Amino acid sequence: MQMLTCIIFCSVYRGYVGIHSSGFRDFLLKPELLRAIVDSGFEHPSEVQHECIPQAILGMDVICQAKSGMGKTAVFVLSTLQQIEPIAGQVAALVLCHTRELAYQICHEFERFSTYLPDIKVAVFYGGVNIKIHKDLLECRLTRYKSFKEGHKRILVATDLVGRGIDIERVNIVINYDMPDSADTYLHRVGRAGRFGTKGLAITFVSSASDSDVLNQVQERFEVDIKELPEQIDTSTYMPS
Ligand code: ADP
Repeated sequence: MQMLTCIIFCSVYRGYVGIHSSGFRDFLLKPELLRAIVDSGFEHPSEVQHECIPQAILGMDVICQAKSGMGKTAVFVLSTLQQIEPIAGQVAALVLCHTRELAYQICHEFERFSTYLPDIKVAVFYGGVNIKIHKDLLECRLTRYKSFKEGHKRILVATDLVGRGIDIERVNIVINYDMPDSADTYLHRVGRAGRFGTKGLAITFVSSASDSDVLNQVQERFEVDIKELPEQIDTSTYMPS
């Protein structure tokens, strides 16, 4: 028998998104950076940004740990751009990450925040694929990803591999067609919804004893109570008002 469960994921996220009264202006960033921040629609720093950026821009070592979607990328992108004094022909910063999609996203973040810093050049390098064989596939994936991210396509069917590497704002609903194999994978999948303080809804099909085991692990690990899917879902619980 299949049972549907649902969780309003904002309950986990609520309380972690600290909006501070201070603004990006208080970090005394380069005016070119501030302009790009305003263009990006960022109004207030998130909690990790508030905690880490002032230290990082002074050149201090920072270990920044926070849930997915809390603005960590912007922490290191802004802090790096603030400190770089570009010298032609020299590499100033190297960012290492674990998926190709993520590398492209980080590159994109560097590009948008360096819009008004024309001397900054950013490039993505990755290995592990034979470009001759995979180029079309890769381009096809990136085109689809882009059209979803930009809202031209509203539904994305993805594997764990893709789900883990993507960053898309305003995903409202994640449907776990099959149960993720672990609590970690569950977090990576549902972490796509409700990013940066918006609310998200995750619906999971639970059809076997092992599925229930994973569901129990998820509930224990993240201290959430995942209820059976109600007859009616109140859309205001996961759509922005
Ligand atoms: P993380 O690296 O912690 O997973 P990201 O840096 O990718 O989080 O941020 C998640 C989303 O929130 C991105 O789409 C990013 O553009 C957006 N974001 C980050 N910081 C802010 C902010 N201060 N104001 C508004 N949106 C933000």
